Amino acid sequence: MESQKKYKSRFSFEFFPPKTDVGVQKLKVVREQLAEKNPAFFSVTYGAGGSTRDRTVDTVLDIQKSTGISTAPHLSCVGDSREQLRELIQHYKKNGIERIVTLRGDLPSGMGASSGELKYASDLVAFIREETGDHFHLEVAAYPEMHPQAASMDADLLAFKAKVDAGASSAITQYFYSVDSYKFFVDSCEKMGIDIPLVVGIMPITNHDNLMRFSNMCGAEIPRWIRTRIENHSTDLDYITKFGEEVVTGLCEQLLDLGAPGFHFYTLNQTEPSLSIWNNLDLSNR
Ligand code: FAD
Repeated sequence: MESQKKYKSRFSFEFFPPKTDVGVQKLKVVREQLAEKNPAFFSVTYGAGGSTRDRTVDTVLDIQKSTGISTAPHLSCVGDSREQLRELIQHYKKNGIERIVTLRGDLPSGMGASSGELKYASDLVAFIREETGDHFHLEVAAYPEMHPQAASMDADLLAFKAKVDAGASSAITQYFYSVDSYKFFVDSCEKMGIDIPLVVGIMPITNHDNLMRFSNMCGAEIPRWIRTRIENHSTDLDYITKFGEEVVTGLCEQLLDLGAPGFHFYTLNQTEPSLSIWNNLDLSNR
């Protein structure tokens, strides 16, 4: 874990681009509340294949302009052509965007198997570097518990190294609830000579069904003791919120003690769950 301790801590929040007017108004309130914490940046997800292209662009530019906080679009290559990606990247550059969360993405079911011109996130990192040099800080995804489609943990680590070698600046992990998975991942990266900040993606626990659904999709393991408790209280949102806050605050405390260089909160466009963990840890003063 030694390599991570030299990085300055950074804390950020992720949103999705709202679909409805009500969602847009709600996100305006959420981002104002979270902006008060002066995070390192906000980020806005992207529907692979371009399904949220305009909404992601509008949301990113609007948040950066209205809060003054650096805002990063997520951008995936699956299903998009080089030309579409080039246009979007240049549009972001022209509009003062300086960071991109660079991904392969997963096409929504029903969009066929078309995979676009760039196959992997490492290809997209290389493409953005070719097009815009060092202009962007490029974040990539990391999977301490292994990406669900990877042939093996070793193959996934090599794929991760390919993104770093292509020019990634730092990484954000898939969420997890086992500190050891992160510790072993960081140690493996160190042995492979990977030396970029490995920031931890944090998913607050607030709802049984949503957490199970997301975790089944992305391969995040929910330890049995956590699953059992939230299953037993699946309709008691107060219990889950309180229990989830305690569990995730404890997880973050252990990660900070180990030397994790920061957290990226998957807010799901809600203020309270991420904010209470932030306040419990006094992240504004770290
Ligand atoms: P890659 O790094 O390309 O890896 C994908 C798979 O291919 C892995 O199994 C890897 O081991 C394998 N692989 C990579 N390179 C090679 C190679 N050269 N040869 C063989 N195998 C290889 N999804 C969205 O659609 N929109 C979002 O906004 C979004 N935001 C995310 C943010 C974060 C922080 C994270 C962690 C994930 C996010 N995702 C998002 C999900 C992500 O798109 C999926 O996990 C996707 O399946 C993989 O994307 P990747 O960038 O990790 O792909």
